[in-house]
Amino acid sequence: TPEKPTNFIRNIINEDLKNGKHTGIVTRFPPEPNGYLHIGHAKSICLNFGLALDYQGRCHLRFDDTNPAKEEIEYEDSIRENVKWLGFEWGEHLHYASDYFQAFYDHAVTLIKKELAFVDDLSAEEMRAHRGNLNEPGKESPWRTRSVEENLDLFRRMRAGEFEDGSKVLRLKIDMASPNLNLRDPVIFRIKKVEHHRTGDTWCIYPMYDYAHCISDSIEGITHSICTLEFEDHRPLYDWVLDKLEVPCHPQQIEFARLNLSYTVMSKRKLLELVQEKLVDGWDDPRMPTLVGLRRRGFTPQSIRAFCETIGVGKSDSFIDMSILEEAVREDLNQRAPRAMAVLKPLKVVIDGYPEGDGEAFEAANHPNDPALGTRKVPFSKVIYIERDDFQEEPEKGFFRLAPGREVRLRFAYIVRCEEVVKDASGEVVELRVSYDPASRGGTAPDGRKIKGTIHWVSAAHAMDAEVRLYDRLFTVPNPGGKNEADYRENINPKSIEVLTGCKLEPSLAKAGVDDRFQFERLGYFCPDSRDSKPESLVFNRTATLRDSWAE
Ligand code: ATP
Ligand code: MG
Ligand code: MG
Repeated sequence: TPEKPTNFIRNIINEDLKNGKHTGIVTRFPPEPNGYLHIGHAKSICLNFGLALDYQGRCHLRFDDTNPAKEEIEYEDSIRENVKWLGFEWGEHLHYASDYFQAFYDHAVTLIKKELAFVDDLSAEEMRAHRGNLNEPGKESPWRTRSVEENLDLFRRMRAGEFEDGSKVLRLKIDMASPNLNLRDPVIFRIKKVEHHRTGDTWCIYPMYDYAHCISDSIEGITHSICTLEFEDHRPLYDWVLDKLEVPCHPQQIEFARLNLSYTVMSKRKLLELVQEKLVDGWDDPRMPTLVGLRRRGFTPQSIRAFCETIGVGKSDSFIDMSILEEAVREDLNQRAPRAMAVLKPLKVVIDGYPEGDGEAFEAANHPNDPALGTRKVPFSKVIYIERDDFQEEPEKGFFRLAPGREVRLRFAYIVRCEEVVKDASGEVVELRVSYDPASRGGTAPDGRKIKGTIHWVSAAHAMDAEVRLYDRLFTVPNPGGKNEADYRENINPKSIEVLTGCKLEPSLAKAGVDDRFQFERLGYFCPDSRDSKPESLVFNRTATLRDSWAE
């Protein structure tokens, strides 16, 4: 196996293994089941599961489901499916933070007994006012001096449901003057009389993220708890809780730069708004940066893993250009996708002199460099379709395709010459009549004459009709709603989808399955739409163009 390039996280792990701090590693991917995973999550998945694979450790999938109001089963199912689709396995280690509710409670009792936690009656507003800011130390709550006995009693009664939502919280007793605001007596439990989708109404107090997360990591024996940079100044709290609890397992929190991708948005709130406000066609809209969207668009797990490998893991936030993601799928599909012919904007061509009837079939290689992908039969007959753009009545300079009196090569077939242009009453070109050179079968002229252009085609009698959807970026600016931009919705690209109907596909494409990917020659990479394509009405999505159309 090739050596992977190192990064600062691997360096930490290597050191920990070398000096015997650990004998193996355990990581985790801890999504909150309140939305669909996006390409940013894929970075975290590839990192955490990838490390586990490389170091023969393990990676847990943990649902961080401590916030009862927002979670839904639908999201959990999709998250599990996405992680598997990316190619990773958690084995027996599918965990739920909600399984640790009792442990969170018991540890809180321990902290109260150690005089490190207290029940506070301040309202949320008063607490905010007491908190101070970066220039001003906070003020201690008047309830901070409650006795251990009183705190134990009140906390027990909070749990028993005796108090209203928001009337009391449990807070840590750390330091109201700390320059790190996270350490100013953070709240660790709040009252929330809401059913939890897994624990029902067993609990009416729920732990806060910072408190629950470090304990969950510790319970599971995580060695390296990898999270994004915005948690850097939460690390002292992570460590404080585990230190004070004196638990045997104290994972190391390591922060890395989150993925920001240009021309899209990735906050769950914005993605949810796009869906709810019907600005896109659901979570799996092929323009969405969600994994279900990328999959429906035709992205492969291999391409997403390769993308995550390419962007690497660093310690400073930056934007990655969308074209890097597109290039990753191009590179993957260029190697693996079988080729096929499709005509998106058809122009009818009648070949004079070619026999009427069934015509013939050409044996075509499915891949130019990979004979293992085999061959297929491509039927040819007297009437074919070519791409409208492959004909110019008055050819511009440098145009080497079909024009009146000119010759072009039909891929795999014959050289044809345009003899006549047929127009309708409005003057639009509706048909071409061409002659063909029977001796050029396969595409070369026996007299050696040079033919510059080769175009694709589909036999009219054999063609499958299809709808083809072309996509562009969902937003017109690199950082929608970001600096100097208005509401991100105002940056939506009105031309992010183009739907073509009456496209003509070679018949072999009729059998395409949802996870099949193709290169339509000269047009890009395409896949059947997993939602809308039916045997009797095919729908294909363009995953990517052949080249970066955004490059200069
Ligand atoms: P949001 O803030 O939009 O609600 P989140 O980041 O809180 O999303 P989680 O479900 O908590 O979403 O994320 C699970 C894991 O994925 C976390 O460990 C988080 O660090 C990681 N993650 C989320 N977004 C990104 C990103 N853009 N780049 C890298 N990792 C990410
Ligand atoms: Mg989160
Ligand atoms: Mg977040």
